[in-house]
Amino acid sequence: MVGMHKPRSTGRSQESAESQKPNPHVAVIGAGVVGMAQAITLAEMGYKVTIYSDAQKSSALQLYDGFIRIMHSLSIPIPNRFNEAMLDLMLKPKPGMASVAASGIFQPYALIRKEDEPLNGGERERLEKVWTELTETSYKRFKSLLSENCGVEEIRHTEVLEAREQMPFYANVMKDFRETTTRAPDGSVKPAWEFTTFGVEMGRYLAYLHRRFAELGGRIVIKHLTPAALSSLPEPVIFNCTGAGARELRHDNEMRVAKGLTLLLKPAKGAQPVSIGDGDFDIVSLPGARVKLGCGYTEQKTDTTEPDKADYAMILGKASSQAHTEWARFNGLAGTLREVKARGSAAVSKAITGVFATKKRGPRIEASVSDHGKVIVDNYAHGYCGMTLSWGAAEAAVREWLRIDASTCPAAS
Ligand SMILES: Cc1cc2nc3c(=O)[nH]c(=O)nc-3n(C[C@H](O)[C@H](O)[C@H](O)COP(=O)(O)OP(=O)(O)OC[C@H]3O[C@@H](n4cnc5c(N)ncnc54)[C@H](O)[C@@H]3O)c2cc1C
Repeated sequence: MVGMHKPRSTGRSQESAESQKPNPHVAVIGAGVVGMAQAITLAEMGYKVTIYSDAQKSSALQLYDGFIRIMHSLSIPIPNRFNEAMLDLMLKPKPGMASVAASGIFQPYALIRKEDEPLNGGERERLEKVWTELTETSYKRFKSLLSENCGVEEIRHTEVLEAREQMPFYANVMKDFRETTTRAPDGSVKPAWEFTTFGVEMGRYLAYLHRRFAELGGRIVIKHLTPAALSSLPEPVIFNCTGAGARELRHDNEMRVAKGLTLLLKPAKGAQPVSIGDGDFDIVSLPGARVKLGCGYTEQKTDTTEPDKADYAMILGKASSQAHTEWARFNGLAGTLREVKARGSAAVSKAITGVFATKKRGPRIEASVSDHGKVIVDNYAHGYCGMTLSWGAAEAAVREWLRIDASTCPAAS
């Protein structure tokens, strides 16, 4: 939806035209991948954006991003350990923030989970149209980020299926999509989809997003917002990108909150960018990053961000069982998986829990006017694919706002 962007003013006549427009100050709540994409999208359109978030050392993240770029331009490699230690220090995420835990595969795979009731034909068609649009917009943005040295890499992904399925709605969006087969640990041959997509090193990517937002003149205020506090924000328009925090902030009792676990492992020498998963378990290997094993997903005990013991054991078990299968034959993964089999949890350098929100019919992207006359644009509950959909969802949220703005935004009158 590039065509809907309002240009920044460059001359006098444009400035006076600009002053006729609705108040350009907007607030974004939340600084995960969804909030950052939302804030950058709005700032690129010329709005003055303030992010309110109850976590993150934004200035430290920007410095870190600058440092990485200098080292990269001098061709000086940065060791994994250093990278992780710096991000730990600077990211200081709110425990459980989903964006830090994500495996980082661009894949709109599980908008509807197996356990959800099936959609009827018309509903599926309508939702797939919406999701395809979100996916296409996001895909273009991630593609443009490949040259930015910001943790986004092209990666060949294999999605292992239980049984042959009809082609997914995103088959036409992904590069070199093909149907194939792979061998399961019990020796059975499973159908699979294979495609080239993006693998995203989340800490590095978040650092980039903070720098990009600062370059655009954005401001971050560290603050936890309660529902009552929304009405006292100075901005007349508020984009709510709080992920699982939306349950409390928007009294949304329909959404489900789940938590997932990512285990980081030392990569074997020569590991290539590659990823493989079956919807319940992923292995992701990116250059310059630890190999990630994810994810146990549970809706139990989401109020604690301690790694769930059963999930932890399940992930190690799955990794061990894959050590001698076809999954391990993917470049560089065999050594890492054998290490898990031999050393168990001793092979794990770090466990990260992420808490995220899901809704039955996909994310809530919707604008409304509050009792206090504020326009609230909700953009949350992207479930298992919030990073994937973030840029498309950000543009869709702006469209939702502009759709109701002319008649209801107080500043527009
Ligand atoms: C283990 C795991 C693996 C995953 N793998 C993938 C993957 O491969 N690909 C993919 O696309 N997605 C993946 N996901 C899903 C993805 O991580 C989420 O959908 C995405 O990170 C959600 O981003 P968000 O910005 O909405 O939420 P978050 O990252 O949780 O950010 C929410 C923000 O809101 C702030 N906040 C919340 N409440 C308030 C409040 N009241 N006041 C102020 N600030 C508040 C928080 O501090 C935080 O900054 C995975 C998730 C997990 C857990």
